[in-house]
Amino acid sequence: MKDSPRQRKRYEKDLAKKNAKVRGAARGKGDARQGRVTEDNWEQLLSQHGRRSGPDNDAALDAPSLQHATGTGEPDGIVISVSSGRCRVVFEGKDIVAMVPPEMAVRQKSLLAVGDRVLLDHEDDVWRLRGVLPRHSVLARPDPNNPHLQRLIAANLDVVIHVVSVKAPPLRPRLIDRFWIAIQRGGAQPVLCVNKIDLLEPREREEELAKLIPYRDLGLPVIATSTQTGEGLDQMRALVQGKTAALVGHSGVGKSSILNALDTQLELMTNTLHRRGTGRHTTTASSLYDFGDGTYLIDTPGIREFGLWDLDRRTLRDYFPELVEANELCRFTDCTHVHEPDCEVKDRVESGVIDRARYETYVRLYDDLEQ
Ligand code: GDP
Ligand code: ZN
Repeated sequence: MKDSPRQRKRYEKDLAKKNAKVRGAARGKGDARQGRVTEDNWEQLLSQHGRRSGPDNDAALDAPSLQHATGTGEPDGIVISVSSGRCRVVFEGKDIVAMVPPEMAVRQKSLLAVGDRVLLDHEDDVWRLRGVLPRHSVLARPDPNNPHLQRLIAANLDVVIHVVSVKAPPLRPRLIDRFWIAIQRGGAQPVLCVNKIDLLEPREREEELAKLIPYRDLGLPVIATSTQTGEGLDQMRALVQGKTAALVGHSGVGKSSILNALDTQLELMTNTLHRRGTGRHTTTASSLYDFGDGTYLIDTPGIREFGLWDLDRRTLRDYFPELVEANELCRFTDCTHVHEPDCEVKDRVESGVIDRARYETYVRLYDDLEQ
């Protein structure tokens, strides 16, 4: 992406601000140099980055500028895309390609992501990545080849927008739960976007959106958008203003189209025959785009399903607040709400107070997870 010098300046300023926040978080946790990824500590780092950001972490994020607190005071860059053995980084206003050290490259998908703040070395005209600064949030999913390892989709996100569509592909509320849990676990603010709303007649629209009322009632912000009519785009702009946000969801729901609609200069290829007639395009890796005014948006590859990384049966309940509330009235205080008698959750499902589809997702996930 070509940025004007003014844009670059702004970018650097924003980056400095955000990095100060990240460093603040690091200081709250002790040694910022923990953020350096080495052969010895990568496993430990993975487990740290997979956690949800708790209140402690949030407080640390509000710390004032802490240039010297890292003990490095070095300038760092932001990763805008990652490919095998190398990554593109915006560093001191320049868009550069940096080599990823071999010990990191072997586990690159778990160790480096778009949005990462990185330290660099420059020697003999070659840029090399030296370390990754601590992250304040991630979006991750289990590695298909090793479910105990997480694959990073993006890092340092404030907001993650889960995009779904109506009609093509149709709205399937059951798919929302896993995305919602994965986003919360990574520490970013979740939002649900229902795109292609133009495809519905008023009556259908009411019926479809009614399916999402349980989510809205549980506190998940829901916005309806159309890249055709422009509906909801102002709301979306307001929501991501000044933030780093990622769009996730199945392929074909309109993620690239939304990014294009938000910034007409972006011209991402969308999943139609595009101008040059080279065929259909699908995003295969995450990329970060500068939308100006401190807003950075990340397009991610289509994700079919979010396997849940490192979740156990007990913690699963935390992501179903409607169950936690009912739990007090179950006969057993440690009721799992799956097979026990006198279970308030099951009663509430029967009487329609708790959404049946959500409960069924809970039971399905419960069955899938290890004790
Ligand atoms: P992505 O794979 O999620 O990035 O989806 P794309 O942005 O490539 O869009 C997939 C298809 O949906 C394209 O043919 C778009 O033109 C179409 N599309 C995207 N947004 C809308 C919308 O709001 N309304 C309608 N009717 N079609 C849309
Ligand atoms: Zn119960």
